[in-house]
Amino acid sequence: MATTFFSPPLTPLVVLRNADILAPSRIGLRDIVISGESIIALLPAGSKLSGLEMEEIDAAGQLVCPGFVDNHVHTLGGGGGLGFSSRAPEIQASQLARAGITTVIGMLGFDATSKSMAALVSKTKGLREDGLSAYCLTGTTLEHPVPTLTGQIRTDIAFVDEIIGVGELSISELGYGYDSFGKGAQYVAEAAVAGLLAGRLSRKAGYCCLQVPPYLSQVLKPMFEVVDRTGIPITQFIPSHVNQTDGYMEDAIAWGLKGGWVDIGANYSPENNYSRATLPHRAYTRLREAGVPADRILISSDGNGAPPKEERGENKPKVANYMPMRALHAAWRRIVCEEEVDVSAALAAVTSNVARATGLAHKGELAPGKDADLLVLNQDLELVHVIARGRPFVANGQPVRRGMFDGTLISELS
Ligand SMILES: [Zn+2]
Repeated sequence: MATTFFSPPLTPLVVLRNADILAPSRIGLRDIVISGESIIALLPAGSKLSGLEMEEIDAAGQLVCPGFVDNHVHTLGGGGGLGFSSRAPEIQASQLARAGITTVIGMLGFDATSKSMAALVSKTKGLREDGLSAYCLTGTTLEHPVPTLTGQIRTDIAFVDEIIGVGELSISELGYGYDSFGKGAQYVAEAAVAGLLAGRLSRKAGYCCLQVPPYLSQVLKPMFEVVDRTGIPITQFIPSHVNQTDGYMEDAIAWGLKGGWVDIGANYSPENNYSRATLPHRAYTRLREAGVPADRILISSDGNGAPPKEERGENKPKVANYMPMRALHAAWRRIVCEEEVDVSAALAAVTSNVARATGLAHKGELAPGKDADLLVLNQDLELVHVIARGRPFVANGQPVRRGMFDGTLISELS
């Protein structure tokens, strides 16, 4: 099948037959009926739908689950810490789709010198035009106040459809610690309140994604104080990649036990040059064994970021450590296959939990009225088909739909 980047008219109905559904809860064999970009019915398997024009996909023997919702992606490209050439390129739509990610939340991160909110919102709109679901956060990691599109956090969230929160934001405006000569934690609390109020007005979560310094003894502790002193709901914050160090994991356990979200970074692992990190699938088990409820745990990729490799020693050349999108699926699969966690519980961490944490009510579940974002998996939990907003992006493991320039890039580079 030829790859396409335009939007052909959708077949009136698409029916996935005999789908063994993980919604993410296990609901068994159904026929999933898709109209346009939405799921309209989950019918008993083998239901008669005569007299209607439809495309049928046989999913017998395969599992069908919601498309992944990745809450932490540097869609414009992260990096920039090792010269201009280390600025990672913009993400391409089929990079996300072939990793099973049908909904993406982008953010600027550390480099707000060469990248801007205007570019981030434009990229988000572009991914939507390409056929995915895309959102973004306002702000950057190390500037207090953060750069915005409209001049304020609250007007960005209230009036710009794509912007659903603020972050990723560090407590210090100066660097990788908590010491600040500015407002520090006070500013983080102000940013979170701006998000909360604008979110209520515009029916969004308006949450605050936190960048937490993992190597210092304070780790998440100032945020407990912010929550206790201000009364801001703990669920307004998403601390990112909690498995970076043991100290951060300990604080994340306390945070999760207090009712907060904890977000495991799928790319943070000794296998990806983070020597002090806990493997993502082990981190999931460690959180659960410590009593953190399964419905508080999220996993994200921090994908398309490219921080300098954590090298020690004088003579090693400094290189960027690219964060691939496929790490999200790999981490989830290892939670099921190596940690022997129930497949539905593990799926929630990349689907329904993320949709709840980020306020995306149409995402993360397979049910009538939800968006038609679906993954078809084989019994080894490998991706077979990916459907985003009712359109196939991957069929039989191969990309069949791409963004406007993905195909051009492939041919120009090969
Ligand atoms: Zn990041």
